Amino acid sequence: MSLLQNFFGFILPPRCAICGRVLQIDQGICDECIENIDFISDNVCYRCGQPQGDFIDKRGHHICGRCLAHPRQIFRFSRSACAYDNFSQKLILDFKFHDHTDLASLLAKMLYVAGKDIFAAGVDVIIPVPLHYTRLLKRKYNQSALLAKELGKLSGVKVCYNAVIKSKMTRPQVECSGSERLTNVKGAFRLKNVAALQNKHVLLIDDVLTTGTTLKECAYAIKKARPKSIDSLTVARVL
Ligand SMILES: [Zn+2]
Ligand SMILES: [Zn+2]
Repeated sequence: MSLLQNFFGFILPPRCAICGRVLQIDQGICDECIENIDFISDNVCYRCGQPQGDFIDKRGHHICGRCLAHPRQIFRFSRSACAYDNFSQKLILDFKFHDHTDLASLLAKMLYVAGKDIFAAGVDVIIPVPLHYTRLLKRKYNQSALLAKELGKLSGVKVCYNAVIKSKMTRPQVECSGSERLTNVKGAFRLKNVAALQNKHVLLIDDVLTTGTTLKECAYAIKKARPKSIDSLTVARVL
């Protein structure tokens, strides 16, 4: 293959973004890898995103018993594209730590599909969960910001990268016990741009939801700007 053909890329066959297998139709991912992803699509509680939305509220949304009993929650909608299992964990760790930034467009497509109810309800601005600058220097990129950028392209919604910053250096949440997680991220985010969020429907983006503590803490910082609503959307979540 000539250098020119390689440069333009149109001669190269499309490959699966996950396993690298050649694709007959350029759908981004092969059928086998799609089979391996445990998508969360049925019976999803619109408030917390858990697949236990056994009740229907008066607007026709699936809702779980816990959210029905606690209607005052920070998020209007919460969604995750898939379960956090061995397969999605590898995918996300590759994306996050091993410079597989090419996965951003595939993962953003998953976010866009999972977030269809959120976009239908209205989103004015997308906010990626920020990294502390020392971590950003070490990792070179913020995986959530890459997801937000691609999601912005797909949805046509503006992305704001500096409305909230992470002002406190925290330990990785995975290293903390249940109670430590709360104190670890307490007050970790600071609101920087009120105008970008005030009176807006805000969508918060992250790669993984474990207990939801980080997303909630970030949402508390956003809430100080008095947005109309805050939603959360992640690629994967621990079920
Ligand atoms: Zn594949
Ligand atoms: Zn719920």
